[in-house]
Amino acid sequence: MKTLWTPWRIEHVQGLAAKPRHCLFEPEGHEKQDKEQLLLFRNATVVVLLNRFPYSNGHLLVAPCRHVACITELSPAEAADLTLMVQRATAILRRRLSPQGFNIGCNIGAPAGAGIADHLHYHIVPRWQDDHNFITVIAELRTIPEHLLATFDRLGPDFLAISST
Ligand SMILES: [Zn+2]
Repeated sequence: MKTLWTPWRIEHVQGLAAKPRHCLFEPEGHEKQDKEQLLLFRNATVVVLLNRFPYSNGHLLVAPCRHVACITELSPAEAADLTLMVQRATAILRRRLSPQGFNIGCNIGAPAGAGIADHLHYHIVPRWQDDHNFITVIAELRTIPEHLLATFDRLGPDFLAISST
């Protein structure tokens, strides 16, 4: 079961994680969606990003807009919005990529495996039966831009259709 929660540490282990000037979960600009930043959705409280270092196709990151490290720091309204967005994003993945399962969760604190420990984020990892070959390929090649952008295009319209309010 350990493997379910450690694979995204590979970016950490390999030192390949992007080191943006600012926090990854606070994308630049104000656009609701921005392909260059792999930003699928943003409103006043929540952002959804396509993980640049995916564990599987469609690996999403859902975070509150506010820079907090733990779910205990969220207001009830923020916690509700975040949970609702995890649910909506999962529904979109189910509709567009037809996965057979999901790993959904968050690593809180560096010892728990959080790559970016100071900004809370949920991972949504779609899973398929016998998807290990794919995962191995992705893990070794680490990020094929065309592949990421194709997935972005596939999911993007559904996120744009979500009301901002
Ligand atoms: Zn942040």
